[in-house]
Amino acid sequence: MSIEKTDEQYAIENEQIYNMFPDAKFAISIDIDELDYVITTQEHIIIKSAYTCYCYDNCNKKTEFFNIFGKNITNKFIINSLIKQDLNLDCNHHFIEGFYKNPKTNSDCQFEIMTGS
Ligand SMILES: [Zn+2]
Repeated sequence: MSIEKTDEQYAIENEQIYNMFPDAKFAISIDIDELDYVITTQEHIIIKSAYTCYCYDNCNKKTEFFNIFGKNITNKFIINSLIKQDLNLDCNHHFIEGFYKNPKTNSDCQFEIMTGS
């Protein structure tokens, strides 16, 4: 358990995160302490970005898949890889809150993006 942070600390950390990833075409709402968290020790994973929220109701944007290669893949590593591969979250749900394996997907290496607004 971490100590509760004040609004001011959150504001400072948001600024730090923003400065860490100036080229991101999405917002990051992952706790700064969790950026170095190792998501997986697998050396190849796929990040799935499905555009299924109501913002895309009328435009049918295709699901995208991003290949990530690395060792001890962290949140930060994934974010940097997604920036390089030009992930662009351009709707109301452009805040990345994390990456998770969807238990409904029968895949060992596919992760989905948890997004919020
Ligand atoms: Zn949306």
